[in-house]
Amino acid sequence: MHRRHFLGSSAAWAAYGAQSEGPGRQYARGAVMGTAGAEELVIERAQTGKPHAGKVLAAIQPHADDIPFFAAGTVAKLIEEGYTGYLIRVTNDDMAGPGTIADTVMANEKDNEELAKTLGLVGAFDLNYNNHRMDEVSPSELRSRFIFLFRLLRVDTIFCYDPWGHYEENPDHYVTALAVESACWMSGGSKDYPEHMAAGLKTKGVAERYYYARGPQLVNRVVDIAPTIETKIDALCVNKAQGPGGDNGIRLRDRLAKQGLRLAILGGDDRTANREYARNFLLRDEEEIGRRHGLKYAEQFHYIGPRPSAVDEYVKQNAQPL
Ligand SMILES: [Zn+2]
Repeated sequence: MHRRHFLGSSAAWAAYGAQSEGPGRQYARGAVMGTAGAEELVIERAQTGKPHAGKVLAAIQPHADDIPFFAAGTVAKLIEEGYTGYLIRVTNDDMAGPGTIADTVMANEKDNEELAKTLGLVGAFDLNYNNHRMDEVSPSELRSRFIFLFRLLRVDTIFCYDPWGHYEENPDHYVTALAVESACWMSGGSKDYPEHMAAGLKTKGVAERYYYARGPQLVNRVVDIAPTIETKIDALCVNKAQGPGGDNGIRLRDRLAKQGLRLAILGGDDRTANREYARNFLLRDEEEIGRRHGLKYAEQFHYIGPRPSAVDEYVKQNAQPL
């Protein structure tokens, strides 16, 4: 289960933020705005054309359902705006799904392949670690695999769990997040894994990061996903092995039918039942985040972007011809 759990009341968090930062700053529910690194909240809206053409994103998820829950609307938005995208699944999801362990692995693998297609991603990588056991994985091995992929795919932007999100209890989430965080900058260093360069790769630091979380988080970016909500619903529905999207609309419809009941919202066919189940029951957080910012549906992140160089800025403004 990957729903967000928020601590305390929004008023309590607002009071915390006001104490730390002074009044007048915007706070998202669940966001803790400390004195270090506090930034203005940015609302990211749909852009026309293909402003991101030529850029590459990697949607990284420990499990097959993480991106569908927390970032599918934003990933779909960026793909529509020109990004080329890849999906990286870190575990084999062998603890979450139907049948035997082998059945579970197979079902999640198929879901993940379908998710990549649904989001318009051009490729998917499975790192194939055991589910729930990532705290026994070598941190440097995991980091080196991300560095290799960032250099190979020329990744500009990643989506991943927030390595500094609070109260995360799944080791697959926080171990992955910490490895990705360090890989993002180490992949830009020529002394890290020089054999990659000998094999023909080039260094490539990752400049933009969208960190999602299921607990309290320092939120500085809210993305309007109303234009891509249908794709997010599709992403929730292809996640059949572990839901809670998948075929749950069909299951609810059939369970009610045995009781002589029906829900009009579930429509008259399987696809409609699943999609409307997702729309009506699985988007409450997206509606709530959106409501706070005047949007119909939104996803929220801690975003880290490229930082302008003070030297470059100064040279641009002050350099004169010899
Ligand atoms: Zn997960």
